[in-house]
Amino acid sequence: MIEDIDKNKIVESELNDICEECKNIEKSVTENLMLTGYKICKSCKISKTLFPL
Ligand SMILES: [Zn+2]
Repeated sequence: MIEDIDKNKIVESELNDICEECKNIEKSVTENLMLTGYKICKSCKISKTLFPL
């Protein structure tokens, strides 16, 4: 149960919609974090998909 609380805290602080790649604030950042685990915006997701590191 303690682990769950810590996890929620981390998630909350991560949900600021700031892309880690371009530092733009976009709604899609949180969406992509949930879907892909990458904290990136729509356009960075596309470039990551086209040119995976
Ligand atoms: Zn971006």
